Amino acid sequence: MVAGQVTNSEEETRAVARHLAATLKAGDVLLLAGDLGAGKTTFVKGLAAGLGVNPDDVSSPTFTLLHEYRGGRLTLYHADLYRLDTAATDDLGLEETGVRDGVLAIEWPDRLTHDMAGARLVRIELVDEDRRRITVGPPAGGVYSIR
Ligand code: ADP
Ligand code: MG
Repeated sequence: MVAGQVTNSEEETRAVARHLAATLKAGDVLLLAGDLGAGKTTFVKGLAAGLGVNPDDVSSPTFTLLHEYRGGRLTLYHADLYRLDTAATDDLGLEETGVRDGVLAIEWPDRLTHDMAGARLVRIELVDEDRRRITVGPPAGGVYSIR
């Protein structure tokens, strides 16, 4: 696990994600862990910018469980499992979705019931009102277990 870096603003968090996006390849899965308001959706906006997708298109997919943004270097898939209980995530088909042609970012990955191949953990912790500690895990060699 790489030591966490502290960001001082939403823009800095987006920049961290933008830089990470440049290193991503098709099939990568990012598990975004952190409390409500930590900055998970903000991080996804940064990923969008880094992939060449309009970050303003990215919103919290509260009712649509899985959003898909095309037109960038890689398709960005964005799932928010907050409202789901664990059983329902089986129906989403997340493994089949993101992994082929794009990058899949998942908020509230603790709701997942199965392991995600190629997944990488991004932990965002609240330090204070404008500060967050972001820890990006190493690229998973195999399957990352969330349990
Ligand atoms: P989540 O998706 O984790 O619930 P959001 O990204 O929707 O969180 O919201 C994060 C909120 O925290 C935004 O209002 C953002 O402006 C604010 N914020 C303040 N400081 C930071 C920071 N350093 N990084 C990210 N967001 C921050
Ligand atoms: Mg969110």
